[in-house]
Amino acid sequence: MEICKNLDKSKHTPEIELCALHFKKAGHHTFAKQAFLRLGDIKGLMKLHVDCQKWDEAQMLAQQNPGMESLINLPYADWLSANDRFEEAQEAYKKANRPDMALRIIEFLSENAISEKRFQDAAQYYWILATESLKLVQDTEGLTKKEDSKYMNDYEEYLKLAEIYQAYNLVSRYLEESYRAMIQGELYNESVFNAARFLVNNLGKRQPSGINIVYVYYALATLAFKFEAFKTAREAFEKLQSLKIPPKWVGQVDMQHLKLRAKPFQDKEGLAMTCNRCITVNPLTNSAGDHCTTCGCNIVRNFGSFDSLPLVEFTPDPSITPVRVKELLKADAPMHGAGGGGWNQRVSE
Ligand SMILES: [Zn+2]
Repeated sequence: MEICKNLDKSKHTPEIELCALHFKKAGHHTFAKQAFLRLGDIKGLMKLHVDCQKWDEAQMLAQQNPGMESLINLPYADWLSANDRFEEAQEAYKKANRPDMALRIIEFLSENAISEKRFQDAAQYYWILATESLKLVQDTEGLTKKEDSKYMNDYEEYLKLAEIYQAYNLVSRYLEESYRAMIQGELYNESVFNAARFLVNNLGKRQPSGINIVYVYYALATLAFKFEAFKTAREAFEKLQSLKIPPKWVGQVDMQHLKLRAKPFQDKEGLAMTCNRCITVNPLTNSAGDHCTTCGCNIVRNFGSFDSLPLVEFTPDPSITPVRVKELLKADAPMHGAGGGGWNQRVSE
C-alpha cells in the first residue's frame, strides 16, 4: 500500500492499476478501493464493490453516478437469490430488466409453499405470477405477437391456480386442523363445503401439485351429508370409492355411505344454486366447469367463503359509449314484445 501511495498518478497509472488488481485479488477491499479512487476509475470501483459483494457502497456509488445501476442490479439479484432472500431478489430482477428471472423466483417460491402445505401463500404467489404475466402482454386487444398469447394463457392458468390453491387451503385446514370446525362453527363448515364444490367444478383434468383429490371429495361427501345435500353426498361417496382412501377414514366412509341409503335421493330444498342470469336451478357441483349448466354463465365467487355472488359478468359492445352504458344500467328493463331492445348474447367460457 505504501508503494502504491507514493506512486505519482500522472506518471505511474499502469503501476497503480496493477496495485489495485493485486489488492482486489488478495481480498483487500479498502486498499483496492483507494487505488481505484486515485485512478478515478469509477467503473473499476463499481466492479470491485460488486465482486466483493459490498452492496451498500455499490448502491451509494450508483446513486452518485446515474447509469451505473445496470452494472449492479443483476449481480445483486443473483446474490439475494443465492442467499435465500427471494422476495427482494424478485424485485431486483425486475429492476435488472429480467422479468423472466423474477417469474422463475416466484415459481420457485410457490413450489416451496406447496411442498410445505402453505397453500394460502401458494395462492398468493400464483396471483403474483398471474399479474406479472399480464404485465408482459404488450398488445392485450389483438394478441398479435406469439409471446403475447403465451403470456395471456399463462395469466389465465396462473389465476385459476391461485383460486384453486385458495380453495384448497380451506379444505386442507379443515381436514388437518379438525379443531377449527369446533371453534369457528357452521359458517366455517359452509365455506369449506363451498370450497370443495368450487374445486370439483374447476379442477377438471388439472392435477396441481400438492392437491389431494381424496381430501376434496372426502370434505365434499362428509359436509354434503351434514348439510343434507344427499344427492351430492352420494355422488361424492361414489367417487371416493374409486380413489385410494387413507385407512383411518375407511370405517367412517363406509358407515356414512351406508347411512345414506336411508336418506332421500335429492339435496335438501333451499341449498340449490340458482343461476343469476337465466334463473335455472343448478346442481351443487358441475364437473364440466364453474358455470351454469344451461346458459354457461360463469359463477362469480367470493374468495373468502366461496359462495356465489348475485353478479353477472358482461362486456358492453364497444360501439356503446361508457356514459351511455351507465345510463342503460340505470334504466328499467324493456317491456316484453318491445323488439328485444337489440339484445343479443354471446357466452364465452
Ligand atoms: Zn344460467
